[in-house]
Amino acid sequence: MEKEKLLLIPGPTPVHPRIINKLSLPTVSHVSPIMISESKDALENLKKIVFCESGEPFIVAGAGTLSMEMALLNTVMREEKILVLSQGYFGDRMSQIAESFGIGCDVIQSAWGEAVSVEELEARLSQENYAAVASTHVDTATGACAPVKDYAELLKGSNSLFIIDGVCATGGIEERMDDWDVDVILTAAQKCFGVPPGLAVVVMSERAMQKRKQMKSIPAYYADLLRWLPIMRDPSKYFSTPCVNEIRAFYEGTEIMLEEGMEKRFDRHEKIAQTFRAALKSFGFKLFTKASYLADTLSVVYYPEGVEDKSFRSTLADKGVIVAGGLGEVAGKVFRMGHMGNLSFSQVEFAISAIESTLSAVGYDWKY
Ligand SMILES: *Cc1c(COP(=O)(O)O)cnc(C)c1O
Repeated sequence: MEKEKLLLIPGPTPVHPRIINKLSLPTVSHVSPIMISESKDALENLKKIVFCESGEPFIVAGAGTLSMEMALLNTVMREEKILVLSQGYFGDRMSQIAESFGIGCDVIQSAWGEAVSVEELEARLSQENYAAVASTHVDTATGACAPVKDYAELLKGSNSLFIIDGVCATGGIEERMDDWDVDVILTAAQKCFGVPPGLAVVVMSERAMQKRKQMKSIPAYYADLLRWLPIMRDPSKYFSTPCVNEIRAFYEGTEIMLEEGMEKRFDRHEKIAQTFRAALKSFGFKLFTKASYLADTLSVVYYPEGVEDKSFRSTLADKGVIVAGGLGEVAGKVFRMGHMGNLSFSQVEFAISAIESTLSAVGYDWKY
């Protein structure tokens, strides 16, 4: 068997043995009692993870991009316009999805490594009305975390729906749907939930569901949440075959999260981020992301002089740790390291010492 390496990329993240075990159970009927009960519990757990009591949770085969599409198509009509707050790669994707379906879209683009400020959002909202405002919580290319709580505060009481792309944040960084008045949180299994890729995950507020119900038809069939609603409320019903093993694994993942407790889980993410960054800085690395926008789930790190991207990452991989390369203008100059999901402090320690010995192996001048 291939030796397992520690996967510290911005998703998929390391999968806990309990989840792997669940995934490897024999496939059961999609309407068997165990599948029905675990689906129900997974949906209930999901609501707890995003602090939502009244909304509707959806778990569907797919990935984060399908969640983005579902969020948009089920809340915004073709004649309407949305505002995308983009701090990088996935904000751009949101505007491409809007364009693909003929939904009007304005974008406020921040510099890479930063996020759109609340003041910029406020200024824009005073000029124009939007059916929805969509923000990436943590951008996977830049490691920048947007002030989504502050955006939500500003949007409270307005008639724009607020959509958060939480694919790189939900379950690792606080997101409180009810308290903050967020209308849609969309995410996926393979990042902070620590479950293998394969699921699109969306939680809709009551207001967002009302909006969907007001729309006669939407340009979607599989992605139409009204077709899924009866199944989410009663998983013994059929619309399209759910990925049984993956959903049971996701159920296990959500159990692990709630056993840890969400507050503790957020704290652990913060501590792990600080631990990694302190170690990396002491080795001579610098952070790409501006200090006030650093995310607890992901770091984007400039190489020190003399350390070459490809040899660093391949040597580190030989030592058992996988990190990702940079995207866009910083490709080759940075590496991206995910530190989210069910990562333990001993895995963090292992990764730090692997990075240290990799630097020595590639001939890094330690200067002491
Ligand atoms: C990874 C990611 C996505 C895309 O998810 P896929 O599962 O790859 O489709 C979208 N948004 C953000 C913020 C992400 O980090």
